[in-house]
Amino acid sequence: MNQLKWAVFLLGFFGGISFGGIAVLDVQKDEAFLKNMRMSGLLVSSGYTYSFIRGSRYITDGSDYQAVQNAFQKWTSANSYLWAVEVPSKGNFTPGRRNGRNEIAWISPTEKESNPWKNVLNLPDTILAVVKVWVESATNRVIERDLYFNDVTVSWRTGSDGDEGGFWVERVALHEIGHLFGLRDVYNPGQKGWEGWMGEGNELLTMYGYSSRWDETAAVHPVESAALAFVYFSVPEPRSMPVFALAAAMFFIPRRR
Ligand SMILES: [Zn+2]
Repeated sequence: MNQLKWAVFLLGFFGGISFGGIAVLDVQKDEAFLKNMRMSGLLVSSGYTYSFIRGSRYITDGSDYQAVQNAFQKWTSANSYLWAVEVPSKGNFTPGRRNGRNEIAWISPTEKESNPWKNVLNLPDTILAVVKVWVESATNRVIERDLYFNDVTVSWRTGSDGDEGGFWVERVALHEIGHLFGLRDVYNPGQKGWEGWMGEGNELLTMYGYSSRWDETAAVHPVESAALAFVYFSVPEPRSMPVFALAAAMFFIPRRR
């Protein structure tokens, strides 16, 4: 049996910082940037079959589910070789456990467990959402990808429902789906996780590693579409980089609100 490893990709938030304004600047990046945006060494399928387990406790009209679907559609229409198909859920779902199926769920308090985000998934309160991937060590092939939203310490909204101060589901979903398809986070200078190739002006990218609750932008930038080409159409480099190197793509918010 192949040995498995896993890694998580997180989207955190700033309290009290709004990017505001209108995004009039374009983001210019070179080829090195595009290459570096992929999760190096990992082999990720361009197709994603998933089950939607449950939505946010703040949203009851189904628009959370719709927002996730809209986000998938933005990626797949920007990049025709990507696809995502939803299938009915079956069997048991346990957050954080591998079960052979890709699953998307909001993680909410239950009667037994008031904070499963922290106590079951072991994630900080300041993380909005996370993609967890399981990787086959021998091949670096990603064999399972789950997406979880923090429904414990974070609230959510869409255009039609949710908490007034909540985060915009489609924005966060769009970012996380970028991880599902093999892209990593980018940051601006001075932020934890920043590396020289990232340059600056990255707050306009979907894969920028922060969001605020005022942020309703949800568009795949041409830079990110181009970066996906390096995920799927360049010669893979299995074993060139151990999975541990993914630590560089993990992010924990350094400050609390
Ligand atoms: Zn991220």
